[in-house]
Amino acid sequence: MNLILLFDDDFTSPTRVRLTGRRRDHVVRVHRAVVGDELVVGVAGGGVGRGRVVGVDGEGIELDVVIDGSPPAAADVTLVLALPRPKVLNRVIASATSMGIKRLFLINAWRVEKSYWSSPRMRPENFLQQAILGLEQAKDTILPSIEARRFFRPFVEEELPQLTRGTRALLAHPGADIECPSRVSEPVTLAIGPEGGFIDAEVTSLQRAGFLPVSLGPRVLRVETAIAVLMGRLAQRL
Ligand code: SAH
Repeated sequence: MNLILLFDDDFTSPTRVRLTGRRRDHVVRVHRAVVGDELVVGVAGGGVGRGRVVGVDGEGIELDVVIDGSPPAAADVTLVLALPRPKVLNRVIASATSMGIKRLFLINAWRVEKSYWSSPRMRPENFLQQAILGLEQAKDTILPSIEARRFFRPFVEEELPQLTRGTRALLAHPGADIECPSRVSEPVTLAIGPEGGFIDAEVTSLQRAGFLPVSLGPRVLRVETAIAVLMGRLAQRL
């Protein structure tokens, strides 16, 4: 937790917060914070600053906060991700969020197992929790929007053409002839396949929607590794 993310409910006055539960425990056990210490804080959807510890007890911790900075710039990347298995999903949401991605669509594909859609991890509360972990990691405050699209075809044919308008639409696909571009300055829409890869018909549909299949090289990477490598390649800075 490199930043303690604060929500409106945490404020007991305009400049004071009281934290309980996970954040309190982390600050006490990991930061070993005592009265007088300063911690990096940020307000969800707002600025960043510092919180000075003014009280610690068995249940909570109180901080006086000064918000005087801005969160880092967002990555201009929309991620279109074939739904990975639930455990991987959690890691992907947190890490994509930590890399500044603000828009994520979880989509179906032939090689996405049906059971993944009914996982408890598909609940919005879980998306939010994972996104918070990513923001805390990266000292960011702006939550991403995360939307699920259970049906591939209507999404790709009806929604994607609008989403990709004005963006560079890239489909990460091992074995593509074209190498993934680097340091792309325009907005990007990035499609990532499921653990088994997109099938040919899906690749064709995505191409019809304007996506260019690109490869990182001959090594097939795990989804979360591929996203990190792609973001490192595409971004000017993270
Ligand atoms: N067996 C599948 C592998 C899928 S890996 C196949 O051969 O297609 C899961 C996803 O990670 C891929 O669909 C792709 O979006 C991304 N990925 C992994 N390795 C990649 C690489 N070398 N180049 C481009 N994308 C890659």
